[in-house]
Amino acid sequence: MQTIDNDNLRRDVEAVAEKYGRKRASLMPLLQTLQAKYGYISGPAMQTAAEVLDIRPVEVYDTVSFYSFFRTEKSARYTIRLCQTISCDMKNKQRIARQLENELGVKFGQATPDGAFALEYANCLGMCDQGPAMLVNDRMYVKVTPEKVAEIVSECRSHFGAYKPGLYDFEPNLREGGPLLSGASAPNAGLRVALAKPRVDVINAVRQSGLRGRGGAGFPTATKWQLAAAAKGEQKFVVCNADEGEPGTFKDRLLLLDFTDPMFEGMTIAGYAIGATKGIVYLRGEYAFLRERLEDVLAKRRKAGLLGKGVLGKAGFEFDIEIRMGAGAYVCGEETALIESLEGKRGEPRNRPPFPVNTGLDGCPTSVNNVETFVACAMILDKGADWFKKQGTEKSTGTKLFSVSGDCATPGVYEFPMGITVAELLRAVGGENAKAVQVGGASGVCVPASQFARQIAFEDAAPGGSIIVFGPKRDMLHVAENFMGFFAEESCGQCVPCRIGCAKLLEGVRMLQRGECSMAHLNELKGLSQTMKIASKCGLGQTASNAFMSIVNHFGDEVFGRQAE
Ligand code: SF4
Repeated sequence: MQTIDNDNLRRDVEAVAEKYGRKRASLMPLLQTLQAKYGYISGPAMQTAAEVLDIRPVEVYDTVSFYSFFRTEKSARYTIRLCQTISCDMKNKQRIARQLENELGVKFGQATPDGAFALEYANCLGMCDQGPAMLVNDRMYVKVTPEKVAEIVSECRSHFGAYKPGLYDFEPNLREGGPLLSGASAPNAGLRVALAKPRVDVINAVRQSGLRGRGGAGFPTATKWQLAAAAKGEQKFVVCNADEGEPGTFKDRLLLLDFTDPMFEGMTIAGYAIGATKGIVYLRGEYAFLRERLEDVLAKRRKAGLLGKGVLGKAGFEFDIEIRMGAGAYVCGEETALIESLEGKRGEPRNRPPFPVNTGLDGCPTSVNNVETFVACAMILDKGADWFKKQGTEKSTGTKLFSVSGDCATPGVYEFPMGITVAELLRAVGGENAKAVQVGGASGVCVPASQFARQIAFEDAAPGGSIIVFGPKRDMLHVAENFMGFFAEESCGQCVPCRIGCAKLLEGVRMLQRGECSMAHLNELKGLSQTMKIASKCGLGQTASNAFMSIVNHFGDEVFGRQAE
């Protein structure tokens, strides 16, 4: 970490502006550069950024103050962020927290007097299958034990300045592949097939497969591409949403690491289909350790003629891909918030319409798709729509990747056909004695044992990508508290039902925990949950109460047992 010298500061800012352009859209990479180099973004740094990018200082501050990875005051040399979300919580993150406090002599939310360490909690780091997880600056540590805490702290103390992003004690944890992960496809075969077809036929192939977006919402991919292709605009964009931050979700981590080429291949196919020349991967800040790998693969693809002018010799088709980083905001997984972030603004969801396919990044038609969606598209173009449709249900075709964590024998990434029942999935992962399963992450549904015959598919329990297993001894009110705490912290605060509603529901869970919640108040909370569903602007507020309400509905004995205590 360097001390700030005004000449150096301006040189740093100018260098980023040179690379990304003198516009607000360069603000995120600029702030990330300053944060990494100086450890915080000072007043003079914000002023210089505003001057060089030709925007107002207040706009710079507006963005800086939104993201949890940016600091406006000098912070410690090492910021330790311990994951507090449910899967790490179930792996006894509390023990690790105490050990960190003992080693450093400070509490969470504080820094050591010598400025070396600061302790913070983080929301889902995407390592739910191998928690407890923690980030030390950009280094990810998994399966942390109290003994390891002492080692990490001492290693930090002896290696000041030689710290690089990395991944420690990590396992990819691919437990079961299916047609997508294990079905051999020659490199770039899908792209070759696509480029030999007219654009409209590429979209038709995806339509025939019935593929629905793998990020959670399940919007038909071909419809999105068709709308973006039909929209008027000189410039169009393909954006890969690699911001998986839903608690319990880490399946895109596997694809980003081991299926990098098929993901870029799928993006290139999308670029051809909608007539875009530029693709952007929006990578969550917590996955900074993946960036170097992604850049390496992109460089190889450029060299091999798979990106750039005349991709694979296709006259008139130019496409390239850039990596942009998030900075610790869950809401940026929502596509319009992600676009705002790419434009250098706070990640606040937009009103819709207009939709991004018409008015997206910089006002241009933009198709935002999930990592897994792009990998599936590459395979579909190679192997055909019928191959894909062989698996799954009529309304949810194909297979799906699931990130499985919690109380089961073999957590990790699994590929199963859509429509698999919760009971079948539990048998495969060694979680048969579960009393509940959270399907689709914190914003999904909590399925009790009496409903384990439910199918995981868009027409029943929507898949998302996260499966969290709760064993017989789990305290479900604690689970509800963890989820509501997550949403209360991650709400962007833009609209009242979500901002106030999340805080009120969290307060309500805590009242239930203390045995202080009257039935009348609980009914008010149920009414509030309905209001949030109807009146919140984006999916975060609309779904934030799902888990809490299903826990109240299905685990009345636990919830109300405390009332009687
Ligand atoms: Fe922000 Fe919540 Fe409103 Fe979404 S619902 S825009 S996260 S305040």
